[in-house]
Amino acid sequence: MSHGCPLCAIAAGSAAIAPPPLARGAFLVHGKPEPGAHPGWLLVVPRRHVEQVTELTPDEAAALGPLLRETAAALQVETGAAKTYVACFAEVVPHLHFHVIARGADAPDATRGPGAFVAAPPADADLATREALVARVLGRLAGARSASASRWRPLILSGLLWPGAGQVVAGRRRLGWGLALATAVVAVLTLRSLVVETLLRMPTDAVYFSDFGSVLALSQRLAAEIRPGLMPHFAALIGLWLFASAEAGLRAWREPHE
Ligand SMILES: [Zn+2]
Repeated sequence: MSHGCPLCAIAAGSAAIAPPPLARGAFLVHGKPEPGAHPGWLLVVPRRHVEQVTELTPDEAAALGPLLRETAAALQVETGAAKTYVACFAEVVPHLHFHVIARGADAPDATRGPGAFVAAPPADADLATREALVARVLGRLAGARSASASRWRPLILSGLLWPGAGQVVAGRRRLGWGLALATAVVAVLTLRSLVVETLLRMPTDAVYFSDFGSVLALSQRLAAEIRPGLMPHFAALIGLWLFASAEAGLRAWREPHE
């Protein structure tokens, strides 16, 4: 924190800004504190006081590009802007910050390009409307994150918990319950075969249970005898598991995540 820095004050919460900033890792996204020439105007700001892009850590630098892109995309969707500017000077306020600005199709020439930083805000600039617009952009940005984080949930559930669980959670109930039930049936049949086959082959002679070595030899022999019969069951289980995971994974992969 740098003393007297207005962006550090916003980051520390000691200076209020409406709507409140959206935190994204090492960065904050919030509206331009004073109204600018365009209503859709956001700042992407590192939380800590740095003054040059070269002072960002590699991790911060790696997160910056995607964040600028997502902010611009959210702003573009909310404003329908013809063009989205991204600019960084940090001359008036030395704390590094990136302007993300929506320029409408009917914006006056004087407000385009560098003019955006020179032109006065329109006389009829309505603060409440501007704040509402920034709130919608921040809301969209926050929603995009949670949507992109949750789109892999079905794959995780079907891959790690139970085939079909992810499809059920994602609302594809018929497929999900079908897969889950089929897996349960195959699992029960597998267990049943395992128990039946083991009992059938279990010797009644107590000599097999006299010491650990004999028990081990017996279980190895039983496993070798039973395994071929259970192979179709295992193949069916693996097939169901792979199908459920692949189906959930492919859907997540194809899902638009803007
Ligand atoms: Zn600062």
